[in-house]
Amino acid sequence: MTSAASPGAARAYDVIVLGLGAMGSAAADRLAARGSRVLGLERFTPAHAHGSSHGGSRIVRQSYFEGAGYVPLLLRSYELFERLERETGREIMLRCGGLMLGREDSAAVAGSRHSAAVWDLPHELLDAAEIRRRFPAFAPGKDVVGLYEERAGLVRPEETVRAQLQLAAAAGAELRFGEPAAGWRALPGGGVEVRTAEGSYAADHLVICPGAWAPELLADLGLPLRVERQLMFWFQPAGGVGPYLPERHPIYIWEDPTGSQIYGFPAIDGPEGGVKGAFFRSGAECTPDTIDRTVYPEEIEEFATYLGARLPGLPGRLVRAATCMYTTTPDEHFVIAPHPRHPAVTVACGFSGHGFKFAPVVGEILADLALTGETAHPIGMFRPERLTGAA
Ligand SMILES: Cc1cc2nc3c(=O)[nH]c(=O)nc-3n(C[C@H](O)[C@H](O)[C@H](O)COP(=O)(O)OP(=O)(O)OC[C@H]3O[C@@H](n4cnc5c(N)ncnc54)[C@H](O)[C@@H]3O)c2cc1C
Repeated sequence: MTSAASPGAARAYDVIVLGLGAMGSAAADRLAARGSRVLGLERFTPAHAHGSSHGGSRIVRQSYFEGAGYVPLLLRSYELFERLERETGREIMLRCGGLMLGREDSAAVAGSRHSAAVWDLPHELLDAAEIRRRFPAFAPGKDVVGLYEERAGLVRPEETVRAQLQLAAAAGAELRFGEPAAGWRALPGGGVEVRTAEGSYAADHLVICPGAWAPELLADLGLPLRVERQLMFWFQPAGGVGPYLPERHPIYIWEDPTGSQIYGFPAIDGPEGGVKGAFFRSGAECTPDTIDRTVYPEEIEEFATYLGARLPGLPGRLVRAATCMYTTTPDEHFVIAPHPRHPAVTVACGFSGHGFKFAPVVGEILADLALTGETAHPIGMFRPERLTGAA
């Protein structure tokens, strides 16, 4: 590609990717694979723990209760996670199966069933007795059912980001870490400029994947985003992790009659690594600068009590707890689109606590949008205008 605008000055880069977390590293990978000259800028180190893409595990599933419209993206994302594993030799994905638990009319169960029916996805519906028999770690009340999906499981977020960065760099992308962007602007003659403490960079196109920094970097969009402090807990069960190994314990999301959800994973971090679980939502509002990274005893106690009522062999001893951030939109759907006023800019944010499983396909979409202005993937529901009321 040659640069089109800015007379005289040939730009060094075709595309700048701002933020190299889950989505930015995927975009850098896909853009570099297509032959673009890519500059990636990241505030921190590769696969750091200050944003939204750390903590060792992320749920992947296909019978998606958040909306049947996500399913084609998930099918493609699975293919791309497998490609990442093949091309880098890293262990990224573990298909240990997944259980969506709750009353039959809960969002987790009814929504997953709907998506499974629309897309003809393999699944089983289990009653409480069958759940106890097949997955004895769970103690469901008799009105609880479970949608079991064999294809569900988990991916390793840090390994995913590292794999995507590795492929991007191998394909020629220049990746600069510890170099936060101080600002960006669309140039009057076309193209973009990004400023950092080291200097300024020009390119034909800019892809902005800022995670929890979206309110700052995309302030001009006026998106109603809420950044939330979220907690993750790892417990060591008194009887050891044996019953929680991935051969016999699936990932799960469990919704109670108030609509509150918890989720958890099998024991994937060895005998001492514990078993991870968390509340799905209910985080306090924060910013990346103000987030309180301390996890308090009363927060541990609250989750341990809730968890113990549902998986009685847990919680046992706390191994560790950590914070993370969601960047949530009011309807909990993503924002992925060309910038409404700057055609040389593409934005991806507001992943609302469920974006990781889409990271590779979001990378593909962002590469499509940056290079051609359009994509064949179904992204209509991610338009920013639905949130801002603009035409
Ligand atoms: C506790 C927790 C559990 C989750 N569980 C799941 C799950 O099970 N399944 C699932 O699908 N999703 C899950 N998610 C959501 C998912 O992890 C996120 O949607 C996803 O990681 C968001 O990726 P991102 O690229 O938008 O953000 P990030 O990965 O945080 O990347 C944004 C990057 O931009 C960089 N950046 C910001 N500003 C600048 C700047 N000015 N200059 C340079 N770089 C900058 C940041 O440093 C960061 O690296 C979970 C999230 C959390 C917090």
